[in-house]
Amino acid sequence: MSAKRSAIVTGGSRGIGRATALALADDGFDIAFCYRGGVAAAAETEAALRERGVAVYQAPCDVADAEAVEAFVKAAEEELGEVDALVNSAGIVRDNPMVLMPHADWNAVIDTNLTGTFNFCRTVAFGFMKRRSGAIVNLSSVAGVYGTASQTNYSAAKAGINGMSRALAKELAPYGVRVNVVAPGFIETDMTAELPDKVRDKAKKTIPMRRFGEASDVADLVSFLVSEKAGYITGQVLQVDGGIVI
Ligand code: NAP
Repeated sequence: MSAKRSAIVTGGSRGIGRATALALADDGFDIAFCYRGGVAAAAETEAALRERGVAVYQAPCDVADAEAVEAFVKAAEEELGEVDALVNSAGIVRDNPMVLMPHADWNAVIDTNLTGTFNFCRTVAFGFMKRRSGAIVNLSSVAGVYGTASQTNYSAAKAGINGMSRALAKELAPYGVRVNVVAPGFIETDMTAELPDKVRDKAKKTIPMRRFGEASDVADLVSFLVSEKAGYITGQVLQVDGGIVI
């Protein structure tokens, strides 16, 4: 990789995406990040990144919209130069038992989590292949490994990310491009903050470490996976979950 490096982080305005953007900035990456619509959180993240002395490009971009994704990547590369790393963290949940799940909630979760990840991978992959370098990390979930009740949509999307990433890793490995997945368990972010206390307490009993993780626990692994220290690791699904047993 060149001395000046840049990374795209989707869903970079909040939670794991924000922690990852900050960790990569600490590693010296210029950062482009997108989000859906939360402008205030994006401005806070941008300020925290600029404090670290890196260049920043940020804009709203719905990851499910392929044309918007292409426009975002083009604008980010015009601003920061060719991108060296991609982290797909944008994601949503719409929980319900399957018998009660509206089709719209199935589609929204698949479109955002799975197709959104495809859209960004698809957009950067050719440049990575041409330059014979690059690293992709996709955020999945333990739900995509074991399945979680009331999350058939989310479990399917995340399992799809695991399969897609393993296949893409095989396609891109001959070009020196690595693709890995980080599958968190329960992490303290807005996504889990809304869980009722009863659910949180029950969840903690399934975690041998008896606590939720922090966004920085996930970001530290992403930082390692995009680095040259992980230069011989590709096609892996790595869990950050306090030893969760489902
Ligand atoms: P979060 O705190 O809810 O943040 C979600 C981020 O994604 C926000 O920046 C949000 O932007 C963005 N986003 C949502 N929909 C988008 C869309 N259509 N287009 C672009 N950006 C969009 O979530 P998190 O907890 O950090 O989760 C990050 C990733 O880790 C997700 O893929 C999630 O599934 C996965 N994960 C999380 C946990 C956990 O316990 N937290 C566990 C396992 C896996 P706006 O604010 O503008 O909407």
